[in-house]
Amino acid sequence: MADKYVYFFGDGKAEGKGDMKNLLGGKGANLAEMTAIGLPVPAGFTITTEVCTEFYKNNRNYPAALKGQVAENLARVEKLMGKTFGDAKNPLLVSVRSGARASMPGMMDTVLNLGLNDTTVQGVIAQSGDERFAYDSYRRFIQMYSNVVLDLDGDILEHILEQMKEKRGVHQDTQLTAADLKELVGLFKQQVKSELGRDFPEDPEEQLWGAIGAVFGSWMNPRAITYRKLNNIPAEWGTAVNVQSMVFGNMGDDCATGVAFTRDPATGENYFYGEFLVNAQGEDVVAGIRTPQPINKAGGDGTLPSMEEVMPECYGQLVKIRAILEQHYRDMQDIEFTIEKGKLFMLQTRTGKRTARAAVKVAIDMAAEGLISEKEAVLRVEPSQLDQLLHPSLDPAVKKEVIAKGLPASPGAAGGEVVFSADDAENAAKIGRKVILVRVETSPEDIHGMHAAQGILTARGGMTSHAAVVARGMGKCCVSGCGDIKVDYRAQTFTAKDGTVIKKGDIITLDGTTGEVIKGAVPTVQPELSGDFGTLMTWVDQIRRLKVRTNADTPHDAKVARQFGAEGIGLCRTEHMFFEGERIMAVREMILAADLEGRKNALAKILPMQKGDFLGLFREMKGLPVTIRLLDPPLHEFLPHTDKEIEELAAVMKVTTAILKNKAEFLHEFNPMLGHRGCRLGITFPEIYDMQVQAIMEAACELIKNEGYQIVPEIMIPLVAEVKELAVLKANAIRVADEVIGRYGVKVEYLIGTMIELPRAALTADKIAEEAEFFSFGTNDLTQTTYGLSRDDAGKFLPFYVEKELFPVDPFVALDQEGVGQLVKMGCEKGRATRPDIKLGICGEHGGEPSSVIFCHQIGLDYVSCSPFRVPIARLAAAHAVLKEK
Ligand code: PEP
Ligand code: MG
Repeated sequence: MADKYVYFFGDGKAEGKGDMKNLLGGKGANLAEMTAIGLPVPAGFTITTEVCTEFYKNNRNYPAALKGQVAENLARVEKLMGKTFGDAKNPLLVSVRSGARASMPGMMDTVLNLGLNDTTVQGVIAQSGDERFAYDSYRRFIQMYSNVVLDLDGDILEHILEQMKEKRGVHQDTQLTAADLKELVGLFKQQVKSELGRDFPEDPEEQLWGAIGAVFGSWMNPRAITYRKLNNIPAEWGTAVNVQSMVFGNMGDDCATGVAFTRDPATGENYFYGEFLVNAQGEDVVAGIRTPQPINKAGGDGTLPSMEEVMPECYGQLVKIRAILEQHYRDMQDIEFTIEKGKLFMLQTRTGKRTARAAVKVAIDMAAEGLISEKEAVLRVEPSQLDQLLHPSLDPAVKKEVIAKGLPASPGAAGGEVVFSADDAENAAKIGRKVILVRVETSPEDIHGMHAAQGILTARGGMTSHAAVVARGMGKCCVSGCGDIKVDYRAQTFTAKDGTVIKKGDIITLDGTTGEVIKGAVPTVQPELSGDFGTLMTWVDQIRRLKVRTNADTPHDAKVARQFGAEGIGLCRTEHMFFEGERIMAVREMILAADLEGRKNALAKILPMQKGDFLGLFREMKGLPVTIRLLDPPLHEFLPHTDKEIEELAAVMKVTTAILKNKAEFLHEFNPMLGHRGCRLGITFPEIYDMQVQAIMEAACELIKNEGYQIVPEIMIPLVAEVKELAVLKANAIRVADEVIGRYGVKVEYLIGTMIELPRAALTADKIAEEAEFFSFGTNDLTQTTYGLSRDDAGKFLPFYVEKELFPVDPFVALDQEGVGQLVKMGCEKGRATRPDIKLGICGEHGGEPSSVIFCHQIGLDYVSCSPFRVPIARLAAAHAVLKEK
């Protein structure tokens, strides 16, 4: 540890610099930097974060040299300000504030107006000529110090203040006179003494060390500890302490205080946006007691005079500072300033938080202004932020009544009448009504209702549950796993935790970005894929190496994905096609057929429909690669459930309902996710896969022959654990494909590959690659099987795991790089060892999650594939991966 503990700043000179955030904290480093570039910053000094670390290491003792260094620097401040700490005639007052490396807003302690006592208050009166101001500062200091340093419950002194107002018959603090405030100071001190058994410290030196100790102490307060945990800030970092001369915005009408953004943080418009208050202290602007005034004429509605009008000189100076700050920091800044007797002081600057829309606009504009490069512009937009831009969102200006909260499964916002079944959703939508489909959980049978609904709410299921995955694919908002609600299908109601009962037909609104369920209608605002967004994405595409495909099951989804820049289909889940319209009957016939003959008859009915599906997809994708996965889910998912459905089917199949019920019972599985699904279906019922391969190849051949398309279909076999499974199924597929090709007499290439979604497949990927021409990592199932964690049930307890920090995040959302990621990496390496040109991709939900996309880049995948609406997010993340590598 260095032996310099204190860094001075003032009058254009600073010992610290902006890049010394680790040592000086964010605030200290920025104060030093602003001072050094010539901005008017009240003089002060920063005690380093190392002192904090030492403080805790040494049983709350300071390094021996600290006292001397603080005294030395205090003397420098006194000299610069022409005031003396503790002086009776012209006293220096200081603020003592925390400032960690990462911003921790409001988590740690601050003391203002330090240095006041019965003697120095006279000096303040003499200097300011304002007795009321002096006593108001004094009583505020006692309140703050008693609470922060002496640990006295804040309500105790606040109560005395309230009593005083009552006695005087006034409502506002500002209505109390100088005499009242002076009396309050006396009452406060008495109270402190009776509560704590000792006098309020009069000695400024003692006050200063008390405050420094309190700020360092606040690093370990429960609030700060929790905040650090949530934001991954290590306890070893420690906080710095900033001691700075006070400037006052509340010494009269030539004083003011304000906050501003160098650009509009909501829209990104290159316009100076801010608010200020005349004769006020910093916290008054944000406290909402008085209505702040705009800093410039353009910013207000004309009812309140702007700073530009009332303090034109200071405003002019602020405008210049705005330009200096942006030139210097090359980013939008969020600043705080104070005007004391007509003199402007800068108290803070930091990178301004902004909406996604503003992030994109500021990045593009700053690149155009030459402030930053195109690459920097790309890095300025967080991939996950883009979500906000791609979906409708709730109008932030409107009040909302949140009745429950679930998982934010698919972003966007939507409102409508509640319905409890997919059929009701479809019927209502047919006559133009907007509905929200509420289910305990959804299954493939609900697809038509999900299509028809504006949004989906489920009581059960996690982030990769059926509802979540399908809704994301459709770009529909979805709140899943909402344990706060109890759904009663019979009564056609759901009940929220607070007892609110929502009936069928009642209006609710969902916010899929936050997981909120809101009673009533809340207006939404539509996304605007403006020119700036387009420009950013062109830059992104020039940088990234990873290709981005989409998971799409319908031509409509494919079209949406293409608009978002998808470069192919990485996963078409054919099972979703089986539920469409009338064809489910034929599918059920196939499953329940007594023999091969019966199955083939049913499959013959499905074939032309499947072929139609693939024609649509290929046409939409215009020659881009399309990976089609053969049937994957357990067969019983397609079975009829209600008696009515069974009766209908029995009539068509000309068998008794008893036979059908028997067969359905026979197909029941205790653990269907690990049961008769995926390639196991293809092994036991080869005719199903044969039909699908035939449909794929006929569609491709027709388009190639008749419409001049160039198509290389990629046929994907799911859930392979053992290379022999793939070998058998591949041989079958080649037989069928070559038969079709021969029949059409055209030259068609095709690829046969597999999903790697079981640990055994990853572990034996070298063998599997002997057969597979491509791998697509199905990280949904791979996560499920690696953790032994059901993706459909985990939603009930995973949030608890995340809250308790057993898991850093839901592993179905962000790829677990340490465990599941290792299997993916190993799969890649082993696959490439056998077949160097093997195509490698990912099609689990992780393919659209930024940290997972970066990982996919790092381990050398060729592409990621994700829901249409996440395609731009994946593109941006892939560009970040390249830029961060360098
Ligand atoms: C997977 O398991 O990651 C996958 C993409 O397949 P599905 O989600 O359809 O099981
Ligand atoms: Mg899978």
